[in-house]
Amino acid sequence: MSGLSGTGVAIAIAYLVASVLFIFGLKLLSSAATARRGNLIAGIGMLVAVAATLLEQEIVTLRWIALGVVIGAVAGLWLAAAVKMTAMPQMVALLNGFGGGASALVAAAEFYRIEASSAAVTTDVALSTALTMLIGAVTFTGSLVAFAKLQEMVTGRAVTYPLQKPINALLFLGALAAIVILTVAIAHPGVFLALTIISLLLGVLLVIPIGGADMPVVISLLNSYSGIAGAAAGFVLHNNVLIIAGALVGASGIILTQIMCRAMNRSLTNVLFGAFGAQAATAAAGGTEARPMRAITADDAAVMLAYAQSVIVIPGYGLAVAQGQHTVRELASLLEKRGVDVKYAIHPVAGRMPGHMNVILSEAQVDYDALINSLDEANSLLDRADVALVVGANDTVNPAAENDRSSPLYGMPVVEAWKAKQVIVMKRGRGTGFAGVDNALFYGDNTSMLFGDAKKSLTELVSAVKGV
Ligand code: NDP
Repeated sequence: MSGLSGTGVAIAIAYLVASVLFIFGLKLLSSAATARRGNLIAGIGMLVAVAATLLEQEIVTLRWIALGVVIGAVAGLWLAAAVKMTAMPQMVALLNGFGGGASALVAAAEFYRIEASSAAVTTDVALSTALTMLIGAVTFTGSLVAFAKLQEMVTGRAVTYPLQKPINALLFLGALAAIVILTVAIAHPGVFLALTIISLLLGVLLVIPIGGADMPVVISLLNSYSGIAGAAAGFVLHNNVLIIAGALVGASGIILTQIMCRAMNRSLTNVLFGAFGAQAATAAAGGTEARPMRAITADDAAVMLAYAQSVIVIPGYGLAVAQGQHTVRELASLLEKRGVDVKYAIHPVAGRMPGHMNVILSEAQVDYDALINSLDEANSLLDRADVALVVGANDTVNPAAENDRSSPLYGMPVVEAWKAKQVIVMKRGRGTGFAGVDNALFYGDNTSMLFGDAKKSLTELVSAVKGV
């Protein structure tokens, strides 16, 4: 630190403080009970990092930065208020894309600055500039495609065509060759432009063969890429806090990707190259069975619930679609007042994004203590539970995952709702879940179907329980 000015030392210390806050905040994010605090602490870390960066001597004018901050803050506030919880995955996709795009712009700016000056360039700066462009541009266009798929602006299915993988491999080799050339002789604008175009194209081509069902995994992976691009940009700019923050995002994104793959019983290679969406669509085309399901009314269900000793609520994607989380909590409170023990069994991939159910239940102020910690614990509690109340869940409670080797779900750990004495399933009709396959739970002897939009049915249940 001896070579640093007073401001330089202050900036270095601020970056260190920010990095510690990031790590501490990330640690707190690992539990639902501390996640909000973790988010706040990491946010403070980012504020410290941004404020310290503004002190950099190299910043000539603050006018453009101020304009960017105002536009960004207004857009961010508007998005946070306007975007629905069910649209969160595409919002995250877009934000990842912007992160990758920003890193690619840093690489481009640095490249043209270096090219214009006659100063010698070290190999590490040359290599990291080229790598930042590759990863940043892939993240940018890949995330835009992911956004368009999830927003249903283009087909959500896996798009495949002949020679897809060889073409992608060739483009990737082309990008690697460009990186080698740029590392040896950086000031080569033609090669840099070629690398930019190939990278932008690769982002599109790598994401289009991935089907709707796997998009959240891809988004988590792109999130990791945006972190790696940020870290690489940190090497370009010699900015330590960017390197640390980028590495944290990169590492946590890849861990999350692995967790999601494991919870879906898929390998990452299978997600990336298996075109799962296409298979799922074929399975869905088989349709559901014509076996009868036993339908009940809200009054019948209310009696079952009100006279139970223990009820385990199993939420799924349908609860998020119906936005019934507040009504579920209201129902649980009513039951608890009657002495019923109510717990929630959350499957790790229930919903459409990691933590989807935790987010909506915590929004509805469901007590963290009521959430069962693991699938194993949930399944052993279900053995003794009087009622399993399945609200808009399907694939995550499908017994085929345990007993049908031909099912695309086979091998995925599931919530064994069928073990409870009575099962009440709330869904609108005979619709399949994400994987597009039938579910034998719905025809079970101890299963009753309460058909209708989850929020509407829950509201009816609340008034019916009051009347019991
Ligand atoms: P599913 O997607 O399997 O099923 C949801 C069910 O909700 C449907 O069967 C649908 O039936 C019902 N539903 C839809 N809208 C409503 C409504 N308004 N009211 C009541 N019911 C409704 O949900 P799960 O949460 O069980 O499973 C999640 C799936 O998503 C898994 O296959 C998982 O692998 C996949 N996935 C999840 C990821 C994640 O990060 N969470 C990532 C990648 C994939 P009906 O139409 O009859 O109402």
